[in-house]
Amino acid sequence: MPVPTVSVIIPAAGAGRRFAAGGWRPHATPEQPPSKVLALLAGRPILAHTLERFAAVDAVAEIIVAVAADRVDQARQMFGHTFRPGRRLLFVAGGAERIESVAHALEVTDRSTELVAIHDAVRPLIRPAVIEEALRVAIERGAAVVGRPVDHTVKSVTAGRQVRATVPRQELWIAQTPQVFRREVITEAYARRHDIVGAVTDDAQLVEGMGREVFMVLGDAANLKITTPEDLRLCEALLAAGWPFEG
Ligand code: C5P
Repeated sequence: MPVPTVSVIIPAAGAGRRFAAGGWRPHATPEQPPSKVLALLAGRPILAHTLERFAAVDAVAEIIVAVAADRVDQARQMFGHTFRPGRRLLFVAGGAERIESVAHALEVTDRSTELVAIHDAVRPLIRPAVIEEALRVAIERGAAVVGRPVDHTVKSVTAGRQVRATVPRQELWIAQTPQVFRREVITEAYARRHDIVGAVTDDAQLVEGMGREVFMVLGDAANLKITTPEDLRLCEALLAAGWPFEG
C-alpha cells in the first residue's frame, strides 16, 4: 500500500493553568500569561521535542500548530526554521477551547492530504513508530486513537470523595494522542461539533458521535501528557534514561 500523506495538527494554545499553579510561569510577561509549551524539557522547549518527533515521520507533509493568538509571531521566530524544506510548518491562532484551536488549524490544512493526525503539543515523548502504526490503522479503518488499556483499579467517586463503585476495567482504555483520521471523517466531525452535548475531551469523541467506528492503537506509558511540573520532571527523567528505549 502506498504511504498516505498526512497533515499534522498540534494544539498548543492552552494557558497551562495547572502548570502555573505549580509555580512555573515559563515566558510569562506583564502582558502575556505563561506558555507551558515553551517550558524547557532537557534544555529545549517542549514544543521543539514534539515537532521533532513528527518531523521524523516521512508521510508528514505539513504541521499546523495552534498557539495563543499573542504568541504566533514568537512561535514562528522560535520554530519556523526547524523543518526541512518542501514541508509546510504553519502557526495559527488557537481558540478559547482546545476543540476551537483544532478547528482553526483544520481550516488551513492542505486539502490534498489523505489523513489528519491531531497530537497534543504537551506529549513530547511520542515515538515515531507509534505515529506510523496509527497512520496505518487510520488509512485502513478511518479513525485511530493511540492509547493504553487501564491497568489501575478504577473507582467511581462522589463529590464528597465517597466511593460509589469499583468500575470493571477489562474494557477500559486511556486515550492519548495522536488521534488520526481520514480527512473526510474528521472534516465532517468538526463541521458537526456544535451538535455534541456536554464536554468534548478528545477529537475521536466527535467521530464516535457521528456513529462511526474508531479503533485503538497500543501506545507507550511514556507518552505522558505534561499537565503539572511533576509531569515535566518525569519526562526529563525518561529522556535522561535514554527514552525511546529501542535500537
Ligand atoms: O488543556 P488540555 O490539557 O486539554 O490541553 C491539551 C492540549 O490542547 C495542549 O497541548 C494545549 O496547549 C492545547 N490547547 C489548545 N487550545 C486551548 C486549550 C488547550 O490548543 N484553548
